[in-house]
Amino acid sequence: MRGKTLKSTLSIKGKGIHTGEEARVTIHPSTSGKIEFKRNGVTIPASIDYIVSSEHGTDIGKDGIVIKTIEHLMSAIVGAGLTSLLIEVEGIEIPILDGSSLPFIQMFIDAGFEEIDLSPTPFGPKRPLTIKSEGSLIQALPFDGFSVTYVVSYPHPQLYMQFHTFDSMSRYREEIAPARTFGILEWADELREKGLVKGASIENILLYNKNGPVNEPRFKNEVARHKILDFIGDIGLLSTRPEGYYFIIKGGHKLHLKLAETLGKEVNGAV
Ligand SMILES: [Zn+2]
Repeated sequence: MRGKTLKSTLSIKGKGIHTGEEARVTIHPSTSGKIEFKRNGVTIPASIDYIVSSEHGTDIGKDGIVIKTIEHLMSAIVGAGLTSLLIEVEGIEIPILDGSSLPFIQMFIDAGFEEIDLSPTPFGPKRPLTIKSEGSLIQALPFDGFSVTYVVSYPHPQLYMQFHTFDSMSRYREEIAPARTFGILEWADELREKGLVKGASIENILLYNKNGPVNEPRFKNEVARHKILDFIGDIGLLSTRPEGYYFIIKGGHKLHLKLAETLGKEVNGAV
């Protein structure tokens, strides 16, 4: 299988969900065979080795330069099958746009795709693995395709149990990309006190209050689909060609990245 880049450069502008700050992202075609970010002259590879935080999103950094909340853009890249790009960021946080990865996918389609010779090696678990943490779980099995079943459960009547199974990357655009990030109104004050969600609004999240969704959901199980979107973005920091069979209960960026780290060590022969 060959690698894939864009045919032309594209550029977007918007504010970050956590910082509320405006940033411009310019995505260039490349032939490096890698996804690389660049900010203030520092090149940061899209790799688990450069993660600096996974608390409320996935942030990467190098030499004191940080780029925040890369997961939705990374997910779109993996979902579109892109394997080689240079992403220049002017600002600190990737724009949240509508809270999903669909605007990125649409821009990629507009820019066009081009095949390149260099191609990443497909990457997944070589043996069954279980990652657990405080009531959360990921089970990963070797599989020469890609399948994720995600179960979410939050202490909220509408979100007590939701799940989705996604098993063909060719359906990413229809099935996963439109699913927005979500929030629960009762959580908002606590997050704001922590200096987070400054850029969040009804325009970029699926919001729940105690009675149910405040704005119209795009899918009945949009929250579970969005968790798959996040997982694809995080696992994409190992390889833009992820493989494996994954069963996830109540996961999050931290658990996704713990799995990615364990898988990464396995391939380097350290486990
Ligand atoms: Zn997300």
